[in-house]
Amino acid sequence: MREVMHFIDGRAVAGTSGRFSDVFNPNTGDVQAKVALATAAEVDLAVQSAARAQVGWAATNPQRRARVMFEFKRLIEANMNDLAELLSSEHGKVVADSKGDIQRGLEVIEFACGIPHALKGEYTEGAGPGIDVYSMRQPIGVGAGITPFNFPAMIPMWMFGVAIACGNAFVLKPSERDPSVPVRLAELMMEAGAPAGVLNVVHGDKTAVDALLDHPVVRGISFVGSSDIANYVYARGAQNGKRVQAMGGAKNHGIVLPDADLDQTVKDLAGAAFGSAGERCMALPVVVPVGEKTAVELRERMIAEIETLKVGVSNDAAAHYGPVVSAAHRDRISGYIQTGVDEGAELVVDGRGFALQGYEKGFFIGPSLFDHVKPGMKSYQDEIFGPVLQMVRAESFEEALTLPSQHQYGNGVAIFTRNGRAAREFASRVEVGMVGVNVPIPVPVAYHTFGGWKRSAFGDTNQHGMEGVKFWTRVKTVTARWPDGDGTGDSAFVIPTMR
Ligand code: NAD
Repeated sequence: MREVMHFIDGRAVAGTSGRFSDVFNPNTGDVQAKVALATAAEVDLAVQSAARAQVGWAATNPQRRARVMFEFKRLIEANMNDLAELLSSEHGKVVADSKGDIQRGLEVIEFACGIPHALKGEYTEGAGPGIDVYSMRQPIGVGAGITPFNFPAMIPMWMFGVAIACGNAFVLKPSERDPSVPVRLAELMMEAGAPAGVLNVVHGDKTAVDALLDHPVVRGISFVGSSDIANYVYARGAQNGKRVQAMGGAKNHGIVLPDADLDQTVKDLAGAAFGSAGERCMALPVVVPVGEKTAVELRERMIAEIETLKVGVSNDAAAHYGPVVSAAHRDRISGYIQTGVDEGAELVVDGRGFALQGYEKGFFIGPSLFDHVKPGMKSYQDEIFGPVLQMVRAESFEEALTLPSQHQYGNGVAIFTRNGRAAREFASRVEVGMVGVNVPIPVPVAYHTFGGWKRSAFGDTNQHGMEGVKFWTRVKTVTARWPDGDGTGDSAFVIPTMR
């Protein structure tokens, strides 16, 4: 059986814990590899390697670091097909979607290619008599990233792309469910010219995560995953004096006003609700039609649209989406569908019991549609993270605005309308971190930043863009005086001011 190994100090390292986790092929249900789960001592090896590498890497001028990023980008593009197929074989998303996963990460690497500009400091000449003040951004040292299964290429690149370009060294703890692509990325980073130790990958579970959270040499932790664990990582990391950004779960709403282009909206909603089997933190699992007429029309068209969807194996180019990541996750999704039924929501399309001929043991589940979902229901409050679209009918714009604003999660939201004024007011007032106007999955471009509100993010710094640069650097401010040297400068016994 293939073993997915750690990648420490520039080379593959077999695990020593004797503990492994199965890596499935979600299309067939077969175990295709085992991944080593690290001990605290193995995490320490990776952190020490990073600490050694970081000193020289930080002293490498920013253009040279940017050149490594340019080369890394070229290598990923050259390996795109292989990486996408590997990603799909462990995650289950269709290959075109895996290419999108890699491409969105690459865009952060493109941003990182411009790091010399982003790291320029500030300078004030003559802040006082003969006094100049300047500020510089310096890397924090060793950073760590803990990432979820659903974007095994993009989310690691959000983190290490910016962190490494800023002059840090990095330890990545990717999801144990699809661990192979992150290792390939680290190998390509070495091939691109980064010194050994600048990017390490340790696999593992809570033991490895806790070792990173408690390690005194790790100065910054970036986490993306479910909210309870995000909250835990944030609290424990902060308690240990680290800076922590921790992105959590989501339950994004699509608001459909009566004047929306319904043909386009239905297609957008289908892609955003069911694409990648709903396993996206920016999916739209809730649709809120405003007014009875909108609800009736939307429901009819959505039923028809769902009938056109093809669920297939991840390398079937005609499939709209593939299997979910594990049997346990499929069963959890089915459980939530039953909860919705028990709570009194109307199950209009039931995706349970779907089986793909020839792949009966694969982790497939068909698309489901609920109508008459109410805000008090558990199936509405919780994140399901599967191909389930829940319709919550609203009578007015205000009611539709209130639903996402009062939901515990606040990652993304979209409004579909032709009314610019309504869209503008919605974008201004809604209590959600990322808003789409006729854009169903408003993941910001790499030079803006990604982050939700409320239980979708703990800590106050977003991923990538200048927020990422701020997270992975710390500011030093120098106040310098170059006196004439005649010994007549005055020294103050009160706090100095710039007179
Ligand atoms: P998860 O929370 O189960 O795992 C995330 C990471 O935490 C993994 O590396 C995992 O090994 C680790 N982990 C798991 N249990 C742990 C524990 N008890 N202690 C410490 N670490 C632990 O999430 P997942 O199932 O891999 O990913 C799906 C979740 O991620 C969804 O909730 C989704 O909304 C969320 N997500 C959020 C964003 C965002 O930007 N807000 C993006 C993608 C995914």
